[in-house]
This record gives sequence, C-alpha cells and structure tokens, in this order.
Amino acid sequence: MNVLVTGGAGYIGSHTLVEMLNAGMDAVVVDNLCNSSAESLLRVEQLTGRTVQFYQGDILNKPLMQKIFADHKFDAVIHFAGLKAVGESVAKPLKYYQNNVCGTLILCEVMQEAGVHNLVFSSSATVYGDPASLPITEDFPTSATNPYGQSKLMVENILADFQRANPQWNIARLRYFNPVGAHESGIIGEDPNDIPNNLMPYISQVAIGKREKLSIFGNDYPTPDGTGVRDYIHVVDLAIGHVKALEKLQTSPGLVTYNLGTGQGYSVLDMVSAFEKACGKKIPYQIAPRRAGDIAACYADPTYALQELGWKATHTLQDMVNSSWHWQSKNPNGYHA
Ligand code: NAD
Ligand code: UDP
Repeated sequence: MNVLVTGGAGYIGSHTLVEMLNAGMDAVVVDNLCNSSAESLLRVEQLTGRTVQFYQGDILNKPLMQKIFADHKFDAVIHFAGLKAVGESVAKPLKYYQNNVCGTLILCEVMQEAGVHNLVFSSSATVYGDPASLPITEDFPTSATNPYGQSKLMVENILADFQRANPQWNIARLRYFNPVGAHESGIIGEDPNDIPNNLMPYISQVAIGKREKLSIFGNDYPTPDGTGVRDYIHVVDLAIGHVKALEKLQTSPGLVTYNLGTGQGYSVLDMVSAFEKACGKKIPYQIAPRRAGDIAACYADPTYALQELGWKATHTLQDMVNSSWHWQSKNPNGYHA
C-alpha cells in the first residue's frame, strides 16, 4: 500500500511511519516543518532501514499538492498536518481555521481530482467537549470549547457531508485521547518547539532540568485526588491504530469513527509519580489555578475499535513514562543537537 502522510515529520506522524514501514507499506511525506524537524524523518529511515520520500511544503499550496499526486499513485492518505496548541488557537483563530479546515478542503479536492478516495483523519477526544458521563463512546454528542476543537469538529462534519455525497470515499475519523511516550529505541519522540502546553512533555522537561517545576492546574476537581484525569495512550499503540485503520479502509467501510484510547484514566499526580519512578528523581511541582477550558475527567470506551479494527492498546502507564524518559534523556534538546 502506498500512502501519503501529511504532517509525517511530527510527533504522531513519525511514530506512525515506523509502524507503517515495518508493516511493509510505502510512505511519502508532505510537511512544512512549522512544528517539526526533518531530522525526525532521517531517524525513521534509520530505525526502519526504509526510505521515505519527503516534500517540504504546505498542504495549503494546491499546485504543490497536485504535483505530489501527479508524481505518485496513492492508495490512501493519513492526514496529520494541523496546528494543535489550544491556547494559540484562542489567540489566533483564523490561523487555526485556515490551516486545519482549509488545509483539509484542499487535500480532499486534490484527492478527488486524483481519484484517491481513502482517508484517515486525526481527530481528537476534544470533540466530546465536557462529556455528561464516562467512559466516552463514539455516539456521544460533540461540541467544542475552543477554536482548535472547533476546527477538528468542523473537519469531522465536512468529511461526513463529503462522504455522504461521494459514497465511493472511505474515511476513518480517529479520535485520539492523550498521546504520550516515545518509540522504545529512544530515537524518535515528542519535541515541542516552545514551552510545552501538554503535561507529559512538561514533566519531561522538568526532569531533565530545563524547567524548574511543574504547575498542576487545579487540585479541586471531583476526581479521586482532585487533579484532572485523562486517558493517556502510548504513541506506538496509537501508531498501530493507524495501520489498522488503513487496512479497514481497504474493506470499503464508508465513513467510520473510532476512539483511540486505553479506557483507563490517570490523574496528574499519577503521572507525576509514575514519571518519578522512571527517572529516579523527584519532580518539583506547585498547585496552580485551574486552566481555563479544562474538564475534570475524560477517558474512552475503546470497545468499538477492538470490535471493528481488532485494535487494543497494550502499553502500560509505566511503558509510557519509561519511553518518554528514555527519549528525553537520550535527546535533551530533542532533534536539535
Ligand atoms: P505535530 O505538531 O507534532 O505534527 C503535526 C505536523 O503537521 C507537524 O510536523 C507540522 O509541521 C505539520 N503541519 C502543520 N500544518 C501544516 C501545513 N499546513 N502543511 C504541512 N504541514 C503542516 O502534532 P502531533 O501531536 O503529531 O499531531 C498530529 C495530528 O494529531 C494533528 O492534527 C493534531 O491536531 C492531532 N491530535 C494530536 C493530539 C496530541 O495530543 N498530540 C491529540 C489529538 C489530535
Ligand atoms: N496539566 C497540568 N499542568 C501542565 C499541563 C497540563 O496540570 O503543565 C494537566 C491539565 O490540567 C489536564 C492534564 O494535565 O488535567 C492533561 O493536560 P494536557 O494539556 O496534556 O492534555 P488535554 O488538556 O488536552 O487533555
């Protein structure tokens, strides 16, 4: 299977490439490197012994996208390219709608012109807003609390309309819970550009000495220890979920939507103590006010993905934090020497 991977140089994209290439698939990447480094692709090649053709460019550049589809015959596309910082999306909503929504429209137009009708889309558990109950199944109502989440929800809805009008299309909307961890080799991992927004990379940077202490956003939530609860999923499990989704699209399922999570919730304090065990150090932290827009708890019911894809997360919490620490300690400056 020959697959175009948009945003393939990024965190989830690079881990997915490894699993795809190891499964015998071929991959071409388009990425503008706005939040990544081409070094990740060299490392994917090093890990797999395979080559990945790379186009450095923007998915908003339609002539470039048309050239890529003219250069190759693709069986499917995995669409990771997107901006993902919630806070920045509140400050710069047009940038997010332009990139995430218009980028997807251009991709779909070019795929349609080229006769490529299989698409895997990176969505997020953020589309469930503040769920009325837990665990979350795919039929829960959707809503958005910020422009980033809104952009994901808009794309989900556009893809549903588009598939309804074009039943020859097969589209998998994958709703990720909280991806963390790194490849067990420590050769690829998450390399945030700025101050990390997300918990796990922040904890890693405290552990490596780049940041002084973690701020825990609220300890008065209605959760067992008062801190926020999330469904953290190992990025390699998530990557394997994409390989399964690509295989599913070969069976012409039409529009499908899957939660990719473990079904298990952990609190911020659970994450801190698991990480302390992995790195053998104390993680200094302070309790800070709640972060605007955060919810108390969120975790998946992953049953449907198991039934439909035969996919299930297998890595434990300790695997997640051990692999994060392995990557961070081997690459204190990420992909930058
Ligand atoms: P990432 O920033 O590491 O990867 C995204 C990649 O897309 C980057 O390499 C970036 O340079 C590229 N990109 C962005 N806009 C582009 C454009 N217009 N043209 C070409 N390339 C572009 O992020 P990630 O964590 O790997 O996330 C991948 C996808 O999964 C994103 O769509 C994100 O919204 C979604 N997602 C991520 C999470 C998470 O917690 N990491 C959770 C749910 C959903
Ligand atoms: N969190 C925190 N400190 C941080 C970053 C995150 O306490 O520096 C908490 C956050 O309030 C939430 C959990 O960690 O309860 C996961 O947050 P993250 O931003 O990683 O994911 P998301 O909010 O998208 O679920």
